Amino acid sequence: MERILLCTGNAGKVAELKALLPAGIELLSLADVGLPADLPETGDTLEANALQKARFAHARCGLPCIADDTGLEVDALNGAPGVYSARYAGEERDPQANMAKLLAALHGVSDRKARFRTVLALIDAGGEKTFEGVVEGCITTEPRGTRGFGYDPIFVAEGNTLTFAEMEKAAKNTISHRARAMSGLLRHLAGDR
Ligand code: IMP
Repeated sequence: MERILLCTGNAGKVAELKALLPAGIELLSLADVGLPADLPETGDTLEANALQKARFAHARCGLPCIADDTGLEVDALNGAPGVYSARYAGEERDPQANMAKLLAALHGVSDRKARFRTVLALIDAGGEKTFEGVVEGCITTEPRGTRGFGYDPIFVAEGNTLTFAEMEKAAKNTISHRARAMSGLLRHLAGDR
């Protein structure tokens, strides 16, 4: 496979997905093929949303497509915000507001266990396939760090002390939910179908 469309308008996701995919594959953006940055995602599972975005793009450009849908699941909130993580604090999808709302919801709560879950959908000549990746961790009491995106400043992965936003990009990309989902996708592309 030589050309793949990354079906996301999220610059943080694009940077991470690019770093995770091997050199030699030409990666196209939604803008490259004239599609809007915001693809429809109206499902109530990560898998449904990832497939919806990949199908939307694939139907319009015919290229192999990879779409990512990610959620942050917090145990003390019964798995919220989960599939609704992007719009947790409103339609503006403002990461600062999302983090503030989550920290407020966990104020005084000692069980801060949480996980990021990513589902990557791949649609190519071989059909449709999804790959899941999870990283366990916990929510801090305040944002720390300036790297990454989204909820990174308030998430510490299991076995670590730094938040994802304090870690080097490459370090996040070796242990993240997205990296774990991508390793399944790459195994699949390498022939383990
Ligand atoms: P979506 O997958 O684009 O719907 O994103 C869900 C929400 O999770 C958005 O608020 C993203 O900014 C956030 N998000 C997705 N991936 C990550 C990540 O790797 N770190 C932190 N936040 C993320």
